[in-house]
Amino acid sequence: MIALNIENLKGQIAITAEKAGRSPEDVKLVAVSKRFPVSAIHQAYQCGQLHFGENYIQELQGKVSEIPPGAKVHFIGHLQSNKAKIAAEHCHMIETVDSAKLAKKLNNHLLKLEKKLKILVQVNIGGDQNKAGIAPEAAEKLLDELAELDHLEVCGLMTIPPVESDTAKTRGHFVRLRKLGDKLYNKGFFTTRDTVEFSMGMSQDFPIAIEEGATIIRVGTAIFGQRPPLL
Ligand SMILES: *Cc1c(COP(=O)(O)O)cnc(C)c1O
Repeated sequence: MIALNIENLKGQIAITAEKAGRSPEDVKLVAVSKRFPVSAIHQAYQCGQLHFGENYIQELQGKVSEIPPGAKVHFIGHLQSNKAKIAAEHCHMIETVDSAKLAKKLNNHLLKLEKKLKILVQVNIGGDQNKAGIAPEAAEKLLDELAELDHLEVCGLMTIPPVESDTAKTRGHFVRLRKLGDKLYNKGFFTTRDTVEFSMGMSQDFPIAIEEGATIIRVGTAIFGQRPPLL
């Protein structure tokens, strides 16, 4: 089932990207394996899936020794600064940096680990009170602070927009994130100057996100099926 889902998804990504005049290789698929057992990660990995998304530090800690060494973990959940060390050790990218405090903690741990880490700044693009992320207006100030932290590679922006019944509204959120990222890029921000990463789009809305410039999509249900409930 997982193999078939990945194959279908790749087809959809390719068709959507090409229709939008983009190259399918410019859209990275992160398979969100939260609440699924490591065996699911192994199944996907055997199909060539390399990037995985995890939301909970404790769950990640439990899984990490059994995750295939070649797999790359994106942390996509809310990260408390007191858990920064674990994330810094085990992740390929932290997509949810939303404070200078967290960023400094990460940087300090990375200094000791003698490594660099890719991060994204999480933006609360819909101004949703229940969602994490910084306000769009505050992004520039945070990026200024992050520029001082040598062990962080600030690659772009991530968002989880509010759930909308109207797809035009969802598209509007993605467009706003993209415009914000482009504006900041033009001001000289982001470590990787060849591209800005935009992590946006999940199982329900990834085609719209690809049309609006997503370079990373985070897909769980459409690969692994219905998630088991939280324990
Ligand atoms: C769970 C989760 C996803 C995946 O959602 P699906 O609807 O299952 O594709 C993507 N991004 C984040 C931040 C998540 O928490």
